[in-house]
Amino acid sequence: MEIIEEDDEEIKQLMLRISNKEITLCDSCDTFFDYIPQVTTCNECKKKKKREYQRRPEYKAKVSEYEQRPEVKERNRKRRQSAEYKAKDREYGQRPEVKERNRKQQRERYHRKKKLREEE
Ligand SMILES: [Zn+2]
Repeated sequence: MEIIEEDDEEIKQLMLRISNKEITLCDSCDTFFDYIPQVTTCNECKKKKKREYQRRPEYKAKVSEYEQRPEVKERNRKRRQSAEYKAKDREYGQRPEVKERNRKQQRERYHRKKKLREEE
């Protein structure tokens, strides 16, 4: 591989900035970000990791287990009853994409039930 002087200089500069604790090289991708103590992963990768983690069955199991706790259930119930939550919920239900999704789900539910009735 041919070594380009400019790049070499750039890399040297970057290495210097890393050792000066000005920037950090992400350990999952090749992005540099501002130095923060103990942080070795850039925000994008952190978000990605979090999303991947949240998709895992053990995480979902943990969440639903947590939501089954009486104090959590009670808290959620109270939150759902708050005016703020209801307003948000209403606002959310007004969005075109949500309306469309709800209609689709209703349609599917209807057809599923209809099919069940026909099979009986
Ligand atoms: Zn990264």
